[in-house]
Amino acid sequence: MADYDVVIIGAGAAGLTLAHRLGQINDRRDPPLRTAVLEPPPGPHTPPRRTWCFWEAGPGPWDHLLAASWEDLSVIGPDGAEHRSPAGPYAYKMLRSTDVDAHVRAAAGAAVEFRPLFVRDTEDGPEHATVRALAPGGEHLRLTARWVFDSRPPVRPRAVAPACSSTSGDGSSA
Ligand SMILES: Cc1cc2nc3c(=O)[nH]c(=O)nc-3n(C[C@H](O)[C@H](O)[C@H](O)COP(=O)(O)OP(=O)(O)OC[C@H]3O[C@@H](n4cnc5c(N)ncnc54)[C@H](O)[C@@H]3O)c2cc1C
Repeated sequence: MADYDVVIIGAGAAGLTLAHRLGQINDRRDPPLRTAVLEPPPGPHTPPRRTWCFWEAGPGPWDHLLAASWEDLSVIGPDGAEHRSPAGPYAYKMLRSTDVDAHVRAAAGAAVEFRPLFVRDTEDGPEHATVRALAPGGEHLRLTARWVFDSRPPVRPRAVAPACSSTSGDGSSA
C-alpha cells in the first residue's frame, strides 16, 4: 500500500486550494484520503509572501480571509481625468498567501499532513508514484502515493551563450 493517497508538492495557490478541497471532501468520506502537502522548510527555497487576486460575482468561500476587495473600475485618461464605473456583479478580491496558508493548515483535518520537505524528483509507476525529497536535516526520504499533484514551478532553461570561435589567417583558432 502506498504511504499516501495523494501527495501535493508545493503549498502555493494551487497546492493549498487542492489541500483545502480534499480536507472538505474528507469530512464526508470514510476512510479519508490520506494526503501529504510537501513544502520546503523556511529558508532559501521559501517563496516571498504574495497576494492572490481574482474576480468573483457575489459572495465567495474565501470572503472571510480577504485582505481587500474592489467594486469599481477606474481608468485615468491622458488628461488626468478619472473615469470610474462599477464592475458589478463582479468584485476584484485579494487574498494574502500567509492568510490562506494558515487557514488551510488549521482547517484541513487530521488526514491532511503538512511536511517540511524539499522535493528532488518524482517517478511514475504502475501501482503508485514515488516522490524523492530532502528533510530539513539533509535526510533523503522516499514517499509513495496513488496520485501526485506537482505544482513546482517549471524550471526555466538557462540561457546558454552561443559557442564562439574565430579562426585566424594561419588556420589556428582563438
Ligand atoms: C512578481 C509576481 C507578482 C504576482 N502578483 C500577483 C497578484 O498580484 N495577484 C495574483 O493573483 N497573482 C499574482 N502573481 C501570480 C501568482 O503568484 C501565481 O499565479 C500563483 O502563486 C501560482 O500558484 P501556484 O500554486 O501554481 O505556484 P506558487 O504559488 O508559486 O506555488 C508553488 C509552490 O511550490 C513550492 N515548491 C517549489 N519548489 C519546490 C520543491 N522542490 N519541493 C517542494 N515544494 C516546492 C514553492 O515553495 C511554492 O510554495 C504574481 C506572481 C509573481 C511572480
